[in-house]
Amino acid sequence: MLIDTHAHLDLAQFDADRAAVLARARTAGVATVVTVGVDLASSRRAVALASENEGIVASVGVHPHDASTLTGEMLGELRKLSEQPGVVAVGEIGLDYYRDRSPRDVQRRAFQAQLAWAARLGKPVIIHDREAHDDVLRMLQDWAGGLGGGALAGRLGVLHTFSGDLAMAERAMALGFYVGFSGPVTYPNARQLPGIVQAVPLDRIVVETDCPFLPPQPHRGKRNEPSYVRLVAERVAELKGISFDELSAATTANARWLFRFEDRVLNGKTELESR
Ligand SMILES: [Zn+2]
Repeated sequence: MLIDTHAHLDLAQFDADRAAVLARARTAGVATVVTVGVDLASSRRAVALASENEGIVASVGVHPHDASTLTGEMLGELRKLSEQPGVVAVGEIGLDYYRDRSPRDVQRRAFQAQLAWAARLGKPVIIHDREAHDDVLRMLQDWAGGLGGGALAGRLGVLHTFSGDLAMAERAMALGFYVGFSGPVTYPNARQLPGIVQAVPLDRIVVETDCPFLPPQPHRGKRNEPSYVRLVAERVAELKGISFDELSAATTANARWLFRFEDRVLNGKTELESR
């Protein structure tokens, strides 16, 4: 059994065949999918998907690309949304200095505001970090320092599609973060990632697709989907020199503890409407 801890099931790329995508995920052994919002509208769609299917849980938040759209009013709407059943996290939030679609100071303010909100909610955070390692780590350190333990202790969130170095992973894990691995671990030209996978302890790893983006190796250039999390898990198991069963049991337990969801399992009974 596997959990895809990061998917964007609400996106239009899945409109034509969402039910078939979920059926394939079930067949591949994916019990639960965390579908992640990137702005208010997609967060709403994520929550709707979670309410329609037992095997889907949602995360709500504003991506750093859209940081300049975040207003106090929107934060109020997100807050209301986060009270809905099936919302397990705040995200994805963070900093993206690669695309710089919002000014960096605006990104940092939006990140800060959403971290503070997650702390009040007592929900873990899903972090997007691209070429912003130092600032992300510094802000997470400050945030973690102000939390003073509490409900989030040891499970502050996840650095999704981890792209930092091992030193960063170690500092984040010491704060109480998990490390999320996705398609890039399967790429033959991945240089740093295999060593990081080997060094990160099994009890701090979660697997994800980030679909429809970042398809794993045999599907590169095509749409990614939750069933392919199996390929990520197989590669992580191979790198760690353990069985697939051991890897999947550990990462599933990690994801359930991190996001505190009961056994929300994809089943054949709840079919999604195409939207
Ligand atoms: Zn994402």
